[in-house]
Amino acid sequence: MSASVNYDARAFIAGARVDARSGARFDCLSPVDGKKIAEVARCDAGDVDAAVQAARAAFEDGRWRKLAPAHRKRVLIKFADLIIAHADELALMETLDMGKPIQYAKGVDVNSTANCIRWYGEAVDKLYDEIAPTPRTALALITREPMGVVGVIVPWNYPMIMAAWKIAPALASGNSVVLKPSEKSPLTALRLAELALQAGVPAGVFNVIPGYGAEAGSPLALHMDVDCIAFTGSTKVGKLIHVMAGQSNLKRAWTELGGKSANIVFADCPDLDKAVAASIGSIFFNQGESCNAPSRLFVEASIKDRFLEKALALVPSYMPGDPLDKKTVMGALVDKTQHETVLRYIEAGQKEGAKLLAGGQAARVETGGYYVQPTVFDGVSNQMTIAREEIFGPVLSVLSFKEAHEAVSQANDSVYGLQAAVWTRDINKAHGVARALRAGTVHVNQYDEDDITVPFGGYKQSGVGRDKSLHAFDKYTEMKTTWLRIDSPLDV
Ligand code: NAD
Repeated sequence: MSASVNYDARAFIAGARVDARSGARFDCLSPVDGKKIAEVARCDAGDVDAAVQAARAAFEDGRWRKLAPAHRKRVLIKFADLIIAHADELALMETLDMGKPIQYAKGVDVNSTANCIRWYGEAVDKLYDEIAPTPRTALALITREPMGVVGVIVPWNYPMIMAAWKIAPALASGNSVVLKPSEKSPLTALRLAELALQAGVPAGVFNVIPGYGAEAGSPLALHMDVDCIAFTGSTKVGKLIHVMAGQSNLKRAWTELGGKSANIVFADCPDLDKAVAASIGSIFFNQGESCNAPSRLFVEASIKDRFLEKALALVPSYMPGDPLDKKTVMGALVDKTQHETVLRYIEAGQKEGAKLLAGGQAARVETGGYYVQPTVFDGVSNQMTIAREEIFGPVLSVLSFKEAHEAVSQANDSVYGLQAAVWTRDINKAHGVARALRAGTVHVNQYDEDDITVPFGGYKQSGVGRDKSLHAFDKYTEMKTTWLRIDSPLDV
């Protein structure tokens, strides 16, 4: 099927599709079957500069930022409606481009993207600024203003959602955007830009430059006329983003990075079956390619055998299938490199003495695509490579503990601090453990529930700043004080 799809993957600058100035392109291969689905514009510094200039011109003349918030709201809601109207097309593109099951591409990725854009659109005409409690001889306004040109760099695991978490608050608050999607999943971002234009986002306000990190991402992060860089991706590249921001114009830099989330199940968890289903479902969702995947499972020793028996019974239902089949729950890893990386980690787990309980092999090799069996390791110590490094694949490490403090200190013994979970029916324990866990989000007695209304981001090397919720507006606005002198307020 993928062989017959031919997507336009030229860049989107100043409201039009354009080739890279150099004319260079790279092949976009589908992880579903390894076949080519598009030729993508290979943008470099020249294209980044053209996109930034278009974004700057749009910002300066105010074609977007000067519109009333209620006007921007209407446009963004229409943009969200168009995404839903093109749900099948976008879902197919996403599945072919990065391998996730079609049912989730549509049910999760398309819907969450539209919901996010709609939510920020609806929010923007309900935000008020502040007046400071000054003496009567002054009126001091504390206002939020758009920053200007916002550069956005995103990964491939949830290509549309990761982009939407940044472009929605950035656009809603009046900025212009230059988005660099991952070279591994560039297609839907380009289509989103066309739909935004169709909805009424003026040309030049939302630009997309596909390309490689070093060739297109770095020039964006280093650009002297970009006011803010919002990045989601690995911790390794995230650190470079902060360096590049400092080396250039001290642009505001926000980073949403990796994770190695700890999922702590106590013997008194209220519903063992639910805990098992959520633990297994969340690590294997999106082929394990989720920054917040609960990849370290800490089970209280007294229930570990029972827990594992139930967990292993569920694992076969996550065997990878054809991502285009509506019933498939686990699809293909994004590419050959990621496939090799995950298999290398599985080998490292075995070499370091962890016990392989399930999976551990490549799957569906006859398809030419990149599939890995759902994999479970028991007997993992927190010092092993598979417990310390982010695998970003369907690999679960099981550890055990006897006392709460032991679980918490191991959970916190990680360079990451994105998410965590605690399962217990004891409210005192739940509260105490949740407070002690150094993570941006702590789930209690669930793992997979989420909402656009709550912040998302991490402690420690999981990044700087938060996506989602009204707090995300802080990232894309500057705070201004306007002090108005009132020489002689009329005394009446
Ligand atoms: P990555 O860091 O390799 O790439 C992310 C983006 O950065 C891509 O667009 C890439 O082209 C670009 N890039 C690479 N090198 C660059 C450079 N030198 N300069 C500028 N840009 C560069 O990450 P990935 O493999 O695409 O994504 C997986 C990572 O993303 C995982 O670590 C995952 O945890 C993380 N992630 C985090 C969150 C979160 O919200 N915390 C969400 C999703 C994914």
